[in-house]
Amino acid sequence: MTGYITRFAPSPTGNLHIGSARTALINYIFKSQQPNSKLYLRIEDTDKKRSTEEFKNSILNGLKWLGVNWDNSPQIQSNNINRHLQIANNLLINNNAYKCICAESELADRRKKINSGEISSKKICISCEKNDEVQSLKTGYVIRIKIPTEGNEILEDVIQGKVEVKNNEIDDFVLVRKDNTPTYMLSVVVDDHDLGVNFIIRGDDHLNNYFRQKFIYKHMNWKIPQYAHIPLIHGEDGTKLSKRHGAVNLIDLKNEGYLSEAIINNLILLGWSPKNQDDEIIQLKNIISTFEMHSLSKSASIFSYKKLDYFNNYYLRLESNIYLFEEFCKSNSILSKYLDLDKEKLLRVFNVYKKDIAKYNQIISIAEIYFSKNFSNNVKENFDDDFNKYFNEFLELIYSINNWEYNNINSTIKEFIKKNNIKFPVLGKPVRYLLTNNYNGPSITDIFMILGKNQSLERLKKYKI
Ligand code: GLU
Repeated sequence: MTGYITRFAPSPTGNLHIGSARTALINYIFKSQQPNSKLYLRIEDTDKKRSTEEFKNSILNGLKWLGVNWDNSPQIQSNNINRHLQIANNLLINNNAYKCICAESELADRRKKINSGEISSKKICISCEKNDEVQSLKTGYVIRIKIPTEGNEILEDVIQGKVEVKNNEIDDFVLVRKDNTPTYMLSVVVDDHDLGVNFIIRGDDHLNNYFRQKFIYKHMNWKIPQYAHIPLIHGEDGTKLSKRHGAVNLIDLKNEGYLSEAIINNLILLGWSPKNQDDEIIQLKNIISTFEMHSLSKSASIFSYKKLDYFNNYYLRLESNIYLFEEFCKSNSILSKYLDLDKEKLLRVFNVYKKDIAKYNQIISIAEIYFSKNFSNNVKENFDDDFNKYFNEFLELIYSINNWEYNNINSTIKEFIKKNNIKFPVLGKPVRYLLTNNYNGPSITDIFMILGKNQSLERLKKYKI
């Protein structure tokens, strides 16, 4: 028995937006929950001016990176144009569509009246349908769908519930443009039908399109799929999530050093929460076993970068994810150099600082401190006498440590502090500053471990009392 056939249908006119990634993810989760189900991928590239091969590849790579796998090879919509035109022709022949030659100025005029409420019906062309001369033209027309003015349509949406629209409110939209190219509105329905798609999960910016597209199904006597329209995601100021809020493309988030697990965790909790889980950390496997599409909230959800950072920090700290850090370093022009130079040292930096960072690229400026060949400290004036009094002795002590190992360094420093009866910050803060140009940061033992004995002494010795 065939299960559900779903699809994700991005237009390659830009990189994969985090909102679209969420739609793709929910499609993937849904199909993974249902037996014998499939998720197809269709590249909707009929807008030739704005579609590029580069965006297409970036979308495919983004989906793969996120772990959203599809069935079969991606379908390319522009390969099916003749089939779309064939259906338009069929609609014409069966009197379910008509030819229209209205000038743009006439249409604009009518649109104005519709928008101002002067005319209640959304039908934009009122003359061509009845004009036999226009209907017998061979070229120079657009094809519009016929939609009744009476009655209403009802959608039982899995997320939005019952939505009702009067037919009067639905426009007689264009199926085929004057240049004989099909519109999105036509192509999407024909392709979905031909693929056997029976469950459409997409953004609720397409909710109105349902009421238009439904008429193509109806006129063709095709079975109408089930629909789940997902609410959009907004930034914290309540407006549609855009660049103003931060990185919004999957590829940019990846390049900044976000992990796909963190993005998935963050995205799935927008408008949904697992029933029996106090902890917000939830991974794809568990999401697939607990997610319920119908319990997704129908109002827009707020995307919080702070929350994403929280999840990312959790996932990047996992020991099992250390290989992802290495992968990130390889793909980053600065970190890849450090990786080649001294992988162990870079990993030490990461392990010491990982609790404090939200994303991998924050390691760049930190690693710079440790990898700098001509490091010079910014000490302008000497430190306090309290420190100066002990500095040379401390330097000797560090010099004398042969077993450069965490516990040993740590206890040596502790003993020194105890023996001289000094408070830790008196020694620790200036030493940290001499090693990293920062009074605050990890323990000085951690810093000694990252730098190694030679480099630590080199940096300390630059301080002259
Ligand atoms: N290509 C459309 C878009 O990117 C998707 C259409 C649909 O899902 O029906 O918005």
